[in-house]
Amino acid sequence: MDAICIFLGSNPGAAPVYARAAKEMGTELAAKGLTCVYGGSDTGLMKLLADSALAAGGRVVGVTVQALRDKEIFHPGLTQLHVVPTMHERKRLMVELSDGFVVLPGGIGTFEEFFEIYTLSLLGFHSKPFGLVNVNNYFAPMDALLDRAQQEGFLKAPHREVILRADTPAEMIRRMKGF
Ligand code: AMP
Repeated sequence: MDAICIFLGSNPGAAPVYARAAKEMGTELAAKGLTCVYGGSDTGLMKLLADSALAAGGRVVGVTVQALRDKEIFHPGLTQLHVVPTMHERKRLMVELSDGFVVLPGGIGTFEEFFEIYTLSLLGFHSKPFGLVNVNNYFAPMDALLDRAQQEGFLKAPHREVILRADTPAEMIRRMKGF
């Protein structure tokens, strides 16, 4: 395992616990010699992740889209920044560059990324590990939704178990490396 893609909020979140987790993830990736792949933004938890990985001597690769250049600030200090034409190409490259995917708290963009990686795994388009770091029990309502989908016959029980789970970034990296 060489590179892990991290999906997380472009906003900082309301509680300091989210910033701490984003920074810890960056530091852990660098300490384990893993390249951090992420969305390339210089805002919110995304920025904290990139800054902490770089400060700890890690490699950080951003993958973003040309159209966002006007709306969002791209991180200026990354090891490498890929600017691709479309969101689809962006996701494709993120999947290609990464050996696993970790989701930290975030908003709609983060949810979309989690569900796309989950769907592609269930359909057999990739067999890379992916998981949720349940900082501050943030993902409890998502689990309630998945419970509901399972109870109502829209989600098979074994398809719940493919999601790796951890409460901290360090624990998630250990799980990924042991996958
Ligand atoms: P959100 O959870 O809605 O804050 O969106 C964050 C997620 O959307 C991140 O994991 C990114 O991959 C993606 N994203 C947000 N902003 C950018 C950006 N400027 N460039 C690339 N991806 C972004």
